[in-house]
Amino acid sequence: MRKCFTCVICPNGCRLEVEADGGTISVTGNLCPRGVEYANEEITDPKRTIASSVLVDGGVMEIASVRLDKAVSKSLIFPIMDVIKALHVAAPVHIGDVIIHDILSSGADLIATRNVEARQ
Ligand code: SF4
Repeated sequence: MRKCFTCVICPNGCRLEVEADGGTISVTGNLCPRGVEYANEEITDPKRTIASSVLVDGGVMEIASVRLDKAVSKSLIFPIMDVIKALHVAAPVHIGDVIIHDILSSGADLIATRNVEARQ
């Protein structure tokens, strides 16, 4: 299997060409070894992160933005989005608050990225 993708680890954005044959992977186009690690991960267990928003009850705004503090397995993106969509948090919410620790046992925390104070 031959795949091409862009390494997103640093702003260089190297265009990686990956040849995967059974258990062996060869990578070209990388300017440093981190590109090989990234290519291996993309082939075996690609990871992504999420930035979204949650509903806030009793706040001066109805939603607060949130994000995962680290990338998670791509297969968990939709299940985690389902959790986020169903979530209501009580105001106040502050930047950096952990909304859900280790969401769906992914190893990532869902954290707030916006302040929403309680309604008076
Ligand atoms: S291969 Fe290395 S230099 Fe190229 S984008 Fe990835 S991390 Fe940056």
